[in-house]
Amino acid sequence: MRILISGAGIGGLTLANWLHKIGHTPVVIEKADDIRTAGYMIDFVGSSWDVANRMGVLPHLRAVNHSFEEMVFKDAAGKTVAHLPVQKLFRALGMSDHYLTLDRRDVVETLYRAIQSDVEVHFGTSLTGICQSAHGVEVAATGSQLEGMFDLVVGADGIHSNVRQLVFGSESQYADYLGYYVAAFYIPHVTDSLETGCAIHVEPGVQVGIYPLSDERWLVIPIYKSTDEGHIPPDQRLSVLRSHLHDVGWITQQILDSLTPDTPIFMDTATQIKMHQWSSNRVVMIGDGAYCPTLISGQGAALAMAGAYFLAEELKQSGNVQAALTRYEKRLRPHVEKVQTKASRFAPNFVPDSQLRIAITNWAIRLIDLPPVTHFFGKQLSLQSIIPATSAI
Ligand SMILES: Cc1cc2nc3c(=O)[nH]c(=O)nc-3n(C[C@H](O)[C@H](O)[C@H](O)COP(=O)(O)OP(=O)(O)OC[C@H]3O[C@@H](n4cnc5c(N)ncnc54)[C@H](O)[C@@H]3O)c2cc1C
Repeated sequence: MRILISGAGIGGLTLANWLHKIGHTPVVIEKADDIRTAGYMIDFVGSSWDVANRMGVLPHLRAVNHSFEEMVFKDAAGKTVAHLPVQKLFRALGMSDHYLTLDRRDVVETLYRAIQSDVEVHFGTSLTGICQSAHGVEVAATGSQLEGMFDLVVGADGIHSNVRQLVFGSESQYADYLGYYVAAFYIPHVTDSLETGCAIHVEPGVQVGIYPLSDERWLVIPIYKSTDEGHIPPDQRLSVLRSHLHDVGWITQQILDSLTPDTPIFMDTATQIKMHQWSSNRVVMIGDGAYCPTLISGQGAALAMAGAYFLAEELKQSGNVQAALTRYEKRLRPHVEKVQTKASRFAPNFVPDSQLRIAITNWAIRLIDLPPVTHFFGKQLSLQSIIPATSAI
């Protein structure tokens, strides 16, 4: 089958890889001009680990791993107030050999390299129309010439999916805002006083996290509570961040001072996507566009990769496209709903909104390596893989 995938992100590239392997002809389109779009840290564990392992890309991902021993929590004056022993925690959960911390850019670059020579990819291209008929799907696109009919169109174009908009209607029908904005950007290091690993400062309703990726380059991830202000255009992000973080302590002001109007800033809401159905005839959605669980779940990449894997398996095993799309959704939906429910229940506490709650959270972190607390924590995260031990592809 000739299958169009809109979106060269984590889910889209994973699907392209599997479709090619099982003998289909995937064609990928990507709105951006380059594969390396927004960067932020992703914990790669459970389903994402298993799918990457079966794709044979783990050695490449291990080479760009940024896993750290512990996460340190800093107060406004820079004093360490709690340590989260990340590696110890994953060891206690039996996952220390199956866990990587990756920059999203490295993940998509690795997935892209794996398909680059086998799959047609059109950058700077976005769909403007999708027309289904008895014979297949015809599309219109900006940017490059896409020719012929497709047997299936897959919307893997992220939380603000264009395919979803064209086929299933406006985003507002499916969006459930969880109360936070998330930003991510790279800066040169602004102080020498940071221990290696990840450092986080929390004040009521605001969190600033730093991942020192190298001696020179830091990835900064601020998260703040806010009413829904909608999409914030790139040219307004710096001033919005300055207004939300202007009185935040620790080294936040040095970080803000290091930004210039040219610094690319990723910024989005933490919003879950909940669709009643993930397909319509020969158009199907995977990943954030269908079922974004938000960063609060820590499972978005895992669900996008699991979705790609299940869809490929069902296309191989089911007798026809409709049966495959139904089976794909039936297998994945119960797990997605569990992850989304846990994330939305946890959302009000994701960034504590008072000094008392921050103190309680720091206290809980100090207890985390006690076995019952570790196992409670592990259960809350739903980190276990849903990829079956035996593979049909
Ligand atoms: C700060 C942060 C931390 C996170 N941490 C984790 C974590 O620890 N673990 C985890 O599992 N997940 C995490 N996630 C979530 C994870 O990154 C996403 O769930 C995952 O990337 C979803 O994959 P996707 O393929 O659906 O979408 P994406 O990876 O977002 O890819 C979508 C692609 O579609 C492209 N596109 C958009 N519009 C169009 C269009 N009109 N036409 C063509 N292409 C288009 C985009 O440019 C992009 O390349 C985190 C997210 C954030 C923001």
